[in-house]
Amino acid sequence: MNADLHCHSNVSDGLLAPAEVARRAHAGGVTVWSLTDHDELGGQSEARAAAEALGIRYLPGVEISVTWAARTLHVVGLGVDPSCPTLVEGLRATRNGRTARAQAMAAALEAVGIPGAYEGALRFVSNPDLISRTHFARFLVEKGFAPSTADVFDRFLGEGKPGYVPHRWATLENAVGWIGAAGGIAVIAHPGRYRYTPLEFDALFGAFVDLGGRAIEVVTGSHTPDQYRKYADVARRFGFEASRGSDFHAPGEGRVELGALPPLPPDLTPVWDRLL
Ligand code: AMP
Ligand code: MN
Ligand code: MN
Ligand code: MN
Repeated sequence: MNADLHCHSNVSDGLLAPAEVARRAHAGGVTVWSLTDHDELGGQSEARAAAEALGIRYLPGVEISVTWAARTLHVVGLGVDPSCPTLVEGLRATRNGRTARAQAMAAALEAVGIPGAYEGALRFVSNPDLISRTHFARFLVEKGFAPSTADVFDRFLGEGKPGYVPHRWATLENAVGWIGAAGGIAVIAHPGRYRYTPLEFDALFGAFVDLGGRAIEVVTGSHTPDQYRKYADVARRFGFEASRGSDFHAPGEGRVELGALPPLPPDLTPVWDRLL
């Protein structure tokens, strides 16, 4: 079983169309796949049709932006019904405000000598509802302000950097609730990326359990091998099921290809066991 349950298409901040991501997953040996665009379900029918034509098991997915303890975190929903009105409406509300935020980001970048970033980022956007920092990062790389999108985040777009604009996303309670209403499983995405204190992390995992959350990503393209081990221990401690996903966005961007991560530690319960 080669499960890749986290990646993006051009319906959010990936570069490839959903069917192209499906072909790439298939070529990478993926046998259970989920497309998890940010705050968007618009790619789900194309992804499912392409996966089924290729003989890959498909789980409908989404990655919801959440604000918890004044920071952003991401919650993946797996096995959701993409037509669930509660989820569809919740995501629509979550996407609201991305355009105003993008305009504020462009103004902040202009103040540090980078003009035209809103229009520049828009040229990389396929879904006008979903302008993200990734689109700004591609524009800044194109203009030569940084050699890679990762470098753009380090210097301009990460928390506390000159182009960063704080934003209020969905609550954890809402995100987990919408996923549950849609019949899916909520998964805390790439916990190693968040800058919470150890106390805050324990509070986060506890709050997530209280809301009905049962899984975290352990092996993800956003974690180092040390973090695979650290979050495998968290999964054991809290009794979480474990997920695996590349977080693929575009060829050559980011750390790993679809399907190429190591397997989960064998003693953990894979989140997909309950979904297949
Ligand atoms: P947004 O939802 O607009 O805040 O954009 C978040 C997206 O930016 C994430 O989903 C990633 O694709 C990308 N991103 C965040 N941090 C980094 C980073 N350090 N390096 C590369 N991409 C990042
Ligand atoms: Mn992204
Ligand atoms: Mn994420
Ligand atoms: Mn992602």
